[in-house]
Amino acid sequence: MDGIIDLHTHTTASDGSMNPGALVRHARAKGLAAIAVTDHDTVDGIEEALEEGEKLGIEVVPGLEISVDYKPEMHILGYFFNNTYKNIRGTLNRLKRSREVRNPKIIGKLNELGFCISLDEVKAEAKGEIVGRPHIAKVLMDKGYVKSIEEAFDKYLSSGKPAYFKKEKLTPEEGIRKIIEAGGIPALAHPIYLNLSLSQLDDLLGRLKQAGLKGIEAYYVDNTKDETGNFLRLAMKHELLATGGSDFHGSFKPDIEIGVGRGNLQIHYEVLEKLKGIGFALGRESRT
Ligand code: AMP
Ligand code: ZN
Ligand code: FE
Ligand code: FE
Repeated sequence: MDGIIDLHTHTTASDGSMNPGALVRHARAKGLAAIAVTDHDTVDGIEEALEEGEKLGIEVVPGLEISVDYKPEMHILGYFFNNTYKNIRGTLNRLKRSREVRNPKIIGKLNELGFCISLDEVKAEAKGEIVGRPHIAKVLMDKGYVKSIEEAFDKYLSSGKPAYFKKEKLTPEEGIRKIIEAGGIPALAHPIYLNLSLSQLDDLLGRLKQAGLKGIEAYYVDNTKDETGNFLRLAMKHELLATGGSDFHGSFKPDIEIGVGRGNLQIHYEVLEKLKGIGFALGRESRT
């Protein structure tokens, strides 16, 4: 099969603006052959997306994106969980609780800084159970405190900024292990956000590969061509699959379109075929 795919998208189950059905219809309208739904710390959007995909004849890959403990930020993507998500639900509930602890701290700090913003307003912005910083940023923007969601992160919400609070996270190795235990294939999301030199990333990939990492998101919306080239070389060196996606969030990241990102992405169906090949091999390993 041929066609263009996107292996990194978000729905209203976390901090995307489109509900799962609408996301799949949007992907279909844009002519994509397949998308993975990779919401933050939840699988709540997957069923609806799979059903809509069946209806419209576009392939939907069940996925997930977990934030793990690493400075400034590390996210691990997981693909093709077993149907029941049995082995990962407990972990996801724990991660959800850690957000629930963090959000009031962020709001409290923003209030101290003089912003009139409440947890209820932020919750109203979130359509699902995952309430995160993009929802807070959206309220700050709608109230005119900042001009964009990006500005809210840059001034207040990012790691190291005044209203940043850490949430309890899994270690990278634990995140990878939990994804594998649930039948999923783990891939390192947007390596560009790790802010590492190439040799540091090289070391890190060695460590994560030991823990079971299978892929690295070499094609990503914020990469330059050179960065993508570097990530592809490291993927080859560590025998990791080079995956890719736009990190589509709808109106929460208005300059990013599904599939093409900012016009700089083109991920071929072949990547998904290779991902399925890894899943097949993993399934065989776990049966022996
Ligand atoms: P949280 O899940 O609450 O930790 O928030 C993570 C979300 O914030 C992810 O969707 C990120 O893509 C988004 N995010 C992180 N940094 C930025 C930034 N500088 N600008 C816009 N969105 C960001
Ligand atoms: Zn997000
Ligand atoms: Fe991410
Ligand atoms: Fe994402």
